[in-house]
Amino acid sequence: MADPSSVEGCISCDLLAGRRPCPGGLIEETERWAVNHCVGPLGVGTLIAAPKRHVVHVWDLDAEEAAELGPLLRRTAGAVAEVFDPHQVYVCLWSHADNVPGHIHWVVQPVAASENPARRGAQLQAAMFEAGELPDPAAMEDAADRIRAVLAADRG
Ligand SMILES: [Zn+2]
Repeated sequence: MADPSSVEGCISCDLLAGRRPCPGGLIEETERWAVNHCVGPLGVGTLIAAPKRHVVHVWDLDAEEAAELGPLLRRTAGAVAEVFDPHQVYVCLWSHADNVPGHIHWVVQPVAASENPARRGAQLQAAMFEAGELPDPAAMEDAADRIRAVLAADRG
């Protein structure tokens, strides 16, 4: 049955409902959360963890959604780290577009040691959005497969 909270035109809801394609598909899920490859210009291997329900504010998460979040982010960041061997994995939430609060989604982004040291944190993401280079769909699918394999191995 379709999620009654699903909002057409919301990127996260559209991805979850299959109304918008996401190369690599579903990478990880819990009962209340889904993880996909980021479709925006934040590089190959950057994932998005979003609640399956259309939730716009962190304070609107219910107790079960909140309880699943920490372990999910830890597991997802760990798998990204294992696949990409980054310097750091950023985990952050902005969820604001055109001055409108949006469906909350955590970015899980591997950052290589080789990345320009002048571009860190929010500056790195701002520069990547400015450049607007969308990840190659085939590379997104490959990254998704590799991350899924690590997550599956972790589950034993
Ligand atoms: Zn939504």
